[in-house]
Amino acid sequence: MFELMELPFLREGLEPYMSRETIDYHYGQHHAAYVKKLNELIQETPYAKNADLDEIVRKSTGALFNNAAQVWNHNFFWHCLTPDSKGYPEKALGNAIDETFGSFKQFKEEFKNKAVGLFGSGWVWLVADGEGKLSIVQTRNAENPIVAGYRPLLVCDVWEHAYYIDKRNLRGAYVDDFWNLVNWDFVAQKFAEK
Ligand code: MN
Repeated sequence: MFELMELPFLREGLEPYMSRETIDYHYGQHHAAYVKKLNELIQETPYAKNADLDEIVRKSTGALFNNAAQVWNHNFFWHCLTPDSKGYPEKALGNAIDETFGSFKQFKEEFKNKAVGLFGSGWVWLVADGEGKLSIVQTRNAENPIVAGYRPLLVCDVWEHAYYIDKRNLRGAYVDDFWNLVNWDFVAQKFAEK
């Protein structure tokens, strides 16, 4: 059985950029519902006894994939956020972002454009490929880049439930505040794992 992960911060810890009410709904309702549904769906499957979330995301389809991937994506998303953001990437990661995108500013612009430009629900990711080359990818609905062989480093949830309480329809304003919350130490740790 899967359990809803513990948040790595207090529910009000991301204010004023992300409200406690958003966390109550996004984590306490949406994320929790994906975990509950996933646990229902793995009954009567081999995963009931050997529940490996990465394996389910890589191998399953349909409702099982959707709920497993949404659990994976939200687990990763919360780890990407912190009340103590440094505001920018350092050292090897900072250098790789500069080399790939021209500058941190240009990286943020491209990331925001892909977040705002994604039609419907989905996720925007900074990923590394097998050779460590960085890129920004969009995925639709529950889709996750590990299925395509990418290594996720950072993700922004652009489902409406991520921002509608705080920002209503203004997805771009949500992304602007997202930059104040990014846990660059976590992103750098993922980048270093290779
Ligand atoms: Mn979400």
